Amino acid sequence: MRVLAAASRFILSTPYHRVFIAGAFAAAFIPLLLIPSPAIPKSAHCSKPPIVPRAFWSAKPAIENRMRTQNPKSIVIHHTGVPAHPHVRLEKKLQDLQRYSQRPGSEEGRPKRALGDIPYHFFIGYSGRIGEGRGLEFAGDTRTNYDTADKIQIVVEGEFMSERPQAKQLAALESLVCWLRSKFAVPVSRIKAHQDVASTSCPGKNLLEILPRLKFAK
Ligand SMILES: [Zn+2]
Repeated sequence: MRVLAAASRFILSTPYHRVFIAGAFAAAFIPLLLIPSPAIPKSAHCSKPPIVPRAFWSAKPAIENRMRTQNPKSIVIHHTGVPAHPHVRLEKKLQDLQRYSQRPGSEEGRPKRALGDIPYHFFIGYSGRIGEGRGLEFAGDTRTNYDTADKIQIVVEGEFMSERPQAKQLAALESLVCWLRSKFAVPVSRIKAHQDVASTSCPGKNLLEILPRLKFAK
């Protein structure tokens, strides 16, 4: 994307740009109904999947006074909005995203607000590894117009308007959501795609069409 060239050296800066652009220009709000299968139990009981903790990817401290506290009650699913980087390690992607997120600057000629941390709580990389992002006790950040309070933000690496999510990414998403449903008693009706709650093309049609078929409870 030509308009993103200024920030292109930051590998993971573009996803946040892309969310912003999608929010600004998306033509329509298309709700996604995640209809639970009758076979899915009301309460899920899933163990925690492997998650790369912040200490393992050398996270810098969160800047807490830039964030609001929350009590998670629902889940919002995103794509990064730019092509996946299969050969870059998850740890490096998380470091770059945090560095970009916490720094003030400008995007598309407008001031960019410095965030307290990575905008998402979990990052599912191309390989299917899950990285720990922002602490769940803090609400996420967005450039689109919706209230992020009490929502768990999960981003899947890729540009799913054209790319397709990897099987390992979908498996990781299933396990992660199932565990989060167990932990926070989130009903299936509160698992949303970003475009369910804001005007955006996120998480891309190729992920969106798969979401209703994923098994978020086992
Ligand atoms: Zn999104």
